[in-house]
Amino acid sequence: MKVSVLRLGHRFVRDKRISTHLCLVARAFGADEIIFDVEDDRVKKSIDKIIDKWGGDFKITFVKNWRSFIKDFKGEKIHLTMYGINLNTAIKRLNEEDKLIIVGGKKVPSEVYYLADHNIAVGNTPHSEVAALSVFLDRLFNGKELEKEIDKKLKVLPLERGKKVVRLDQQETKNK
Ligand code: SAM
Repeated sequence: MKVSVLRLGHRFVRDKRISTHLCLVARAFGADEIIFDVEDDRVKKSIDKIIDKWGGDFKITFVKNWRSFIKDFKGEKIHLTMYGINLNTAIKRLNEEDKLIIVGGKKVPSEVYYLADHNIAVGNTPHSEVAALSVFLDRLFNGKELEKEIDKKLKVLPLERGKKVVRLDQQETKNK
């Protein structure tokens, strides 16, 4: 199952950090790509740096027309919103098709609620797109995404205490 995330309403001036975090969460929690409705090379550059260092095939792209993008998407379209059906109920209604997960920033246009196949609430109270996406992906993958190996140049060797990172390209270990 391919999982894409569509980030709507990115505000160039105030959303750089939160949109970057959204990309990090999408990548770390098992999504394959994120698509923005606003071009912001600052976000793309910082995510591409992370991918170069830590690996994976995660992609970040931009679309000019998000409406046709949603309409043309082949698979289940899921809009995360506090007004939707609670995740505990809605998760059972999803199938094995590819997924498009839509998250907002500023107010999401009302037509999105109708373009989506499912409007899903990660609890029916407002919080954040980063939190909503991470909880949703974790439920979608039943926690298995946390065990996925996506390292390329650097690999963390998990420890109870301290930090150990292996450089896979040079087979050299850095201890901290
Ligand atoms: N009133 C907004 C709403 O419709 O969810 C909250 C805006 S919030 C700052 C930005 C985004 O976070 C929303 O567009 C939505 O995608 C996500 N979000 C916030 N709270 C959520 C919740 N309880 N369940 C699912 N998504 C949520």
